[in-house]
Amino acid sequence: MTHLAQRLDGIPPTIFTTMSALALRTGAVNLGQGFPDTDGPASVVEAAGRAMRSGANQYAPGPGVPALRQAIARHQQRHYGIELDPDRQVVVTTGCTEGVAAALLGLVDPGDEIVVLEPYYDSYVAMIQMCGAVRRPVTLRAPDFRLDADELRAAVTPRTRFVLLNSPHNPTGTVLTRAELQQVADVAIAHDLIVITDEVYEHLTFSDGGGGDDRDNGGDGAVHEHVPISTLPGMFERTLTLSSAGKSYSLTGWKVGWATGPPELVSAVLAAKQWLTFTSGAPLQPAIAAALDDEPDWPRALARDLQARRDLLCDGLAGIGLDVRRPEGTYFALTDISSLGWKDGMEFCLALPERAGVVAIPTQPFHDGHDGDQLVRWAFCKEGGVIEEALKRLGSADLRA
Ligand code: GLN
Repeated sequence: MTHLAQRLDGIPPTIFTTMSALALRTGAVNLGQGFPDTDGPASVVEAAGRAMRSGANQYAPGPGVPALRQAIARHQQRHYGIELDPDRQVVVTTGCTEGVAAALLGLVDPGDEIVVLEPYYDSYVAMIQMCGAVRRPVTLRAPDFRLDADELRAAVTPRTRFVLLNSPHNPTGTVLTRAELQQVADVAIAHDLIVITDEVYEHLTFSDGGGGDDRDNGGDGAVHEHVPISTLPGMFERTLTLSSAGKSYSLTGWKVGWATGPPELVSAVLAAKQWLTFTSGAPLQPAIAAALDDEPDWPRALARDLQARRDLLCDGLAGIGLDVRRPEGTYFALTDISSLGWKDGMEFCLALPERAGVVAIPTQPFHDGHDGDQLVRWAFCKEGGVIEEALKRLGSADLRA
């Protein structure tokens, strides 16, 4: 017998928890859940310790401590030229996951339709259902995982009120181009939609060429740069932008995120957030303010380093016969496992710890249809030695179905 409320009906436990528990239980190398195994800047950890010792241990103000809201506004200015009033256009959230929850609870009514990129991050599906809303998927398909403008236009109905965007995109690694974002903007403006955009991988973008970063060495591989959709003409006033420090500063466990945009959208996030967490972790906020202000280049250096690990993983996976897509951004590479004779990524991932001592993430939970059945996601935000060990294990295992 279950006591689960209808709003959670059919929503399974998050795949990330399931697969990390499997990794712990079996001692497998965990290339599943996306968290780095090296912590962010020591100076930022020190700043949090200082904040705790100097008494920043009681409730922070509801919208977030002023120093962090000001630093977030400076971050948006520095990187994208976006001007924000830190008092009316910035709210601190407990990670971007709370940002998504508060945004949807604060803005979405039952029956509203939300256009969302598929494969979608699992919390989007849960939150859309908890709001009594309806998801309208637009699928990014193999082998290129690009946005199909016709499919996007076809997904909009008279009940559509929102687009829930994610770029750089988890799990495909697609970074939407300015042209693709313009297609989203055109649809949003034509149908008067609000765009809620999850940009947590904003700094973790790469170039196409293997080995090194073309931004620095003048190589000729395409360089993928994140463009916030709020910077496109006519979009600021209809866009709520969500991000966090977790991915940019390798502090995923701190759960410090933020929502920015026009006051009417940001205040709706705050209206819901006050009843969820009330406020977010007080001593972590000044520390993240210090990260944004004093370590502005740290995320870029991380991206350069991650690019080398992306290439190590992708070359290794290709070497064992997997069809691999080299991502433009994020922590993740997708592979098609049909070349090894598998039809079902979930079965493959459940067998993998025993066969090879490695954990990866099946993408079925991120799809309504069957487009993801044979796609498996591998995280490369791990130390080089960990990736090499996983590849060694995969290379010496029998991976055929
Ligand atoms: N965002 C991380 C991932 O995609 C995991 C976060 C989580 O476990 N909820 O792997």
